[in-house]
Amino acid sequence: MTLHIPFDNSFARLPTAFYAAQKPHPVKSPRLVAWNGALARILGLPEEAEDGFAEVFAGNAVPDGAEPLAQLYSGHQFGQYNPQLGDGRAILLGEVVGSDGIRRDIQLKGAGRTPFSRGGDGRAWLGPVLREYVVSEAMHALGIPTTRALAAVETGEEVWRETVLPGAVLTRVARSHLRVGTFQVFAARGDTESLKRLTDYAIARHYPEADGPMGLLRAVRAAQAELIAAWLSVGFIHGVMNTDNSSISGETIDYGPCAFLDVYHPATVFSSIDRGGRYAYASQPDIAVWNLAQLATALIQQYDDPQAVVEEATEIVHGMPGMIHRAWLARFAAKIGIAEPREEDAGLVADLLTLMAEGQADFTNTFRALATGKARDQFTDRDAFDRWAESWRARIVGEADAEGLMLRSNPAFIPRNHRMEEMIAAAVAGDYAPFHRLNTVLSTPYEDQLEADDLTRAPLPEEVVPATFCGT
Ligand code: AMP
Ligand code: MG
Repeated sequence: MTLHIPFDNSFARLPTAFYAAQKPHPVKSPRLVAWNGALARILGLPEEAEDGFAEVFAGNAVPDGAEPLAQLYSGHQFGQYNPQLGDGRAILLGEVVGSDGIRRDIQLKGAGRTPFSRGGDGRAWLGPVLREYVVSEAMHALGIPTTRALAAVETGEEVWRETVLPGAVLTRVARSHLRVGTFQVFAARGDTESLKRLTDYAIARHYPEADGPMGLLRAVRAAQAELIAAWLSVGFIHGVMNTDNSSISGETIDYGPCAFLDVYHPATVFSSIDRGGRYAYASQPDIAVWNLAQLATALIQQYDDPQAVVEEATEIVHGMPGMIHRAWLARFAAKIGIAEPREEDAGLVADLLTLMAEGQADFTNTFRALATGKARDQFTDRDAFDRWAESWRARIVGEADAEGLMLRSNPAFIPRNHRMEEMIAAAVAGDYAPFHRLNTVLSTPYEDQLEADDLTRAPLPEEVVPATFCGT
């Protein structure tokens, strides 16, 4: 087999200050365990996996036209600036312009050590690889901007974490891997030449209509504001919103300890490393603004007189909370059947969320049940719900298609944490049936699927996943 990938590598044409050339490190006995035919088709690749794909997507065989490299970046991790990050376990093979005209990176995650690996082994184990595969594809099907998963390969090698685990490589596809941290590294070094070059590159690649660095800042603000509202609307908690995990393209990136809410509570945190709750569900809007402020701080360093643009940059950052609120209101109003929200509707949504928090109602199932008239059953205090529902019904009386809107805005299926754990345990034992089933069901999350009703069930007390772990 000769797999032809139509590479066109714009990032590799940037100066070498941006990356380190690095080939993936071969693995012992690669085995392809997942191939995303639908995505492959967009990229101009075969829809059916062929012999030899395992070698390519494990990094054993570098395809013609690839220019493998590890990208440089830095970033704030839990609020602390770390100048020494970069792709420590990910290698960019190159870029492909898809049949939809969109340029995308093809990257192997878990492909071995790079000059940016620090103490790490550059590898990934099967659990986080399958988690990212399922969750990123589920996010895409939910209509949320995200990096995607093209392939997963078992390496046949062991990876040491707390214990010995099976190694794996994920092929990640993204509109780019430019992060807030990609800008921060050059700003922190005072390398304004590279910063300017990167700004021009990001504008040309993602926001060709943007006018200069402040135009870029505005465009990233708009994309990130929509993204955060979308996350909140499906109960998604990213878990590690460090600036190096904040994408310039506005895609969800770096699925580590991410998780979805079961019962609703705004302060929910799953990540085992987020001890202070910095990245709790309801804190995500504030963190997105904080991250945008870091991007603004980096971008202004390229002006001859940075002070002269501070005011404009500040204004842009200060406008973000309002934008997130409006995007949040549009999404949550739709979830309760309101097509064109008024500001007062925010109170109606907030009251429902308060009832849900007090009654420990399941986020996904409660919203889904609003359309079918069964939401009441999700609450212990049904009188309180009935009182809320009275104002709600009065509000949506004139809506043309409240039910349809609710069914399109409230998924029946999300990748529930306990199902993900179950899926990983099965795959480690060699059974990929739950993995394939989750992918299939989650590909149409807004459709009722009677045969998959078990996947809508909230976890039993003994099934609740108390904490999630980074993929490292
Ligand atoms: P993350 O928390 O996954 O965003 O990763 C933070 C930083 O640690 C990035 O620079 C990663 O490339 C690096 N990193 C994570 N896991 C590994 C690993 N197993 N080996 C080397 N570097 C890693
Ligand atoms: Mg990261």
